[in-house]
Amino acid sequence: MQALIVGAGPAGLYFAYLAKRQLPGWEVRVVEQNPRDSTFGFGVVFSDRALEFLRGDDPETFDLVTPAMESWTNLTVVHRGVPVVIDGIGFAAIGRLKLLGLLRRQLESVEVFPEFGKGIKEKEPPRGYDLVVAADGANSTIRKTADFGTTVTALGNKFAWFGTTRIFDTLTQTFVRNEAGTFNAHHYRHAPGMSTFVVECDAVTWEKAGFAAMDEAATLAYCERVFADAIGGHRLVSNKSIWRNFPNVRNARWSVGNTVLLGDAQRTAHFSIGSGTRLAMEDAIALTKALAEFKNDIPGALASFEAARRPIVEKLIAGADASGAWYERFPEHMQLAPRDFAWSYIQRSGRIDPEKLRKIAPKFVAGA
Ligand SMILES: Cc1cc2nc3c(=O)[nH]c(=O)nc-3n(C[C@H](O)[C@H](O)[C@H](O)COP(=O)(O)OP(=O)(O)OC[C@H]3O[C@@H](n4cnc5c(N)ncnc54)[C@H](O)[C@@H]3O)c2cc1C
Repeated sequence: MQALIVGAGPAGLYFAYLAKRQLPGWEVRVVEQNPRDSTFGFGVVFSDRALEFLRGDDPETFDLVTPAMESWTNLTVVHRGVPVVIDGIGFAAIGRLKLLGLLRRQLESVEVFPEFGKGIKEKEPPRGYDLVVAADGANSTIRKTADFGTTVTALGNKFAWFGTTRIFDTLTQTFVRNEAGTFNAHHYRHAPGMSTFVVECDAVTWEKAGFAAMDEAATLAYCERVFADAIGGHRLVSNKSIWRNFPNVRNARWSVGNTVLLGDAQRTAHFSIGSGTRLAMEDAIALTKALAEFKNDIPGALASFEAARRPIVEKLIAGADASGAWYERFPEHMQLAPRDFAWSYIQRSGRIDPEKLRKIAPKFVAGA
């Protein structure tokens, strides 16, 4: 059996590793358009129990990645300069480049070497393979070669992904206002000397601030001024930190023929719930299990993969959509006083009701 995996992000690398490990007789080829070690973004967070989902199926990768993660147990919401700590909501984070390096190490341990600088541009599905895995991200090229019933809906807010050398104690959500309007930053440390700093603003603020006419350096300088208190004299760092609108990708079908969508190519989950990377890796686990069970019956495996996984994904996506919708209206929520605002924030995905919160975050609830 021959498999082509397009894209060496978390979904592609991890699926290729698991597939080769589980099905050693398969020929597995991974192609990636970018050069080796070039990637966008800074860190990624894993919510809830970090990499616990790996512990049972893949203790080797769990043991490899977990020590490289930064973790903390509380979350801080800063509004009107007042920090409100929500106890018991923990996260773990890692640099995206670091994670990809570790996943590549795993892949190379099973003798599969990704081919970098090889973008797939064809308008037809690649031929000559028993299985084609589209792990080429939200803007997937492979997805355009067949009818997956794709919809892509861009959210209205703009965001740009920066880093900073300021180290934060917890994952922090900072909301501020200036003469142009309202801004939010999601920031957290992802390495001992480095934090991720994702800046977001609504479309009206973006226009008024004049970002359309600014280059990357001017944008960075402006954001440094907006978040001067949060970064406390440190600088922001850019890496292809251009403004984007978050795309909500959905597909009516996850596979057509022998081509299957994995990770962001299949669906995106708003970054405010910190689950896109975990979902991509869980996809890889589920697809490998289906392929191992159905052996050479690829259509059977792909149908089984979707039937088992879609309900789980859709539940999480409902939470991600609700969270994304909350951010789309954050200027309105900012009329609330800091503690009420923190309540609104923590309940935004509809997955945490007051009773559950009382158990998770007793200090926050008691203080409120
Ligand atoms: C601002 C922001 C913050 C985020 N924060 C978090 C977070 O904190 N936690 C989290 O879990 N997730 C986060 N995410 C989501 C996370 O980045 C994605 O869900 C995850 O990277 C999906 O993995 P993937 O492998 O499916 O896609 P990607 O990581 O996008 O990888 C796709 C790969 O395919 C390659 N490729 C594309 N087209 C081609 C082609 N034609 N030929 C060959 N190669 C190609 C790309 O170069 C890329 O390397 C965030 C996303 C954004 C935008």
